[in-house]
Amino acid sequence: AVPLVVAISTSISAQKGLLIRNRTAFENARLISTIIFDKTGTLTKGSHELQDVKVLNQNFNEKELLRLASGIEQHSEHYIATGLLRKVKELHIEVPRSESFNYLPGKGLEGIVDGKEIKVVGPNYLKEQTIDFPETDDAFTGTVVYILIANEVAGYFTFSDQIRESSFEAIRILKEAGIKNLLLTGDNERVAEKVSNELKMDGYLANVLPHDKLEKVKELQERGEYVAMTGDGVNDAPALAQADVGIAVGSGTDVAAETADIILVNSDPKDIANLILFGKATYNKMI
Ligand code: ADP
Ligand code: MG
Repeated sequence: AVPLVVAISTSISAQKGLLIRNRTAFENARLISTIIFDKTGTLTKGSHELQDVKVLNQNFNEKELLRLASGIEQHSEHYIATGLLRKVKELHIEVPRSESFNYLPGKGLEGIVDGKEIKVVGPNYLKEQTIDFPETDDAFTGTVVYILIANEVAGYFTFSDQIRESSFEAIRILKEAGIKNLLLTGDNERVAEKVSNELKMDGYLANVLPHDKLEKVKELQERGEYVAMTGDGVNDAPALAQADVGIAVGSGTDVAAETADIILVNSDPKDIANLILFGKATYNKMI
């Protein structure tokens, strides 16, 4: 038999936009002391509008860089890829076939297009490989990805994303309830700082690789925190599994959803805050 509390909480949760995949998740939600949010696609929409193409190798022009990058990005589910391909379609550029490709988790991807070795990667990859790259304008607080042709930076693309309206209220509710909140992202420091400041969050960590997201969750658990992790991407799955409560965004990838205890059906971060408050209220009444 399904315990009464599970039956009640599951039906109420459905109305609240939550899909509970693990019976104890609802019960555990009231214990959460720290909540970690992935930035892209969770606190933000992942709308990734292409702002600018910067050409650094004069043998190529903007359209050619976009075309080569699209040949690689057609294999990615990331918002960066969706944003780039949307623009390519708008410009009626034909997406070329790639002869091969390979994911660089949390960094981007590489492959062969037109017989050329192409990489589309974030600044984290260039730092790791100690490849020199041009700094972007200090005032720009969006996502920047570089295109490498035969391991030389040929240009970069800048994207802007938008914070979800309901993220503001989600953070406000959590703070009021005394729950610590942290932003964790694979994206660059400038975007992370901007989003965290605008949302008045307790802190942020940028340039975090998928495996380090998991380590961060562990670290907090070792300090006695009861940790919830919220994410949408393939890269978030290990951290979602490690967290005491893993929460996936409904519009995210299947891998994240399959790993999580709870799915946010409407992709609304406010539903998490309500879940925690609701969990506390329900159990306090019962005990
Ligand atoms: P987040 O933690 O914000 O969801 P990810 O871990 O998914 O970010 O990605 C981290 C970084 O890796 C991105 O900011 C980008 O620099 C790079 N990256 C990931 N996927 C791609 C892609 N398809 N094309 C180019 N760069 C990518
Ligand atoms: Mg993400």
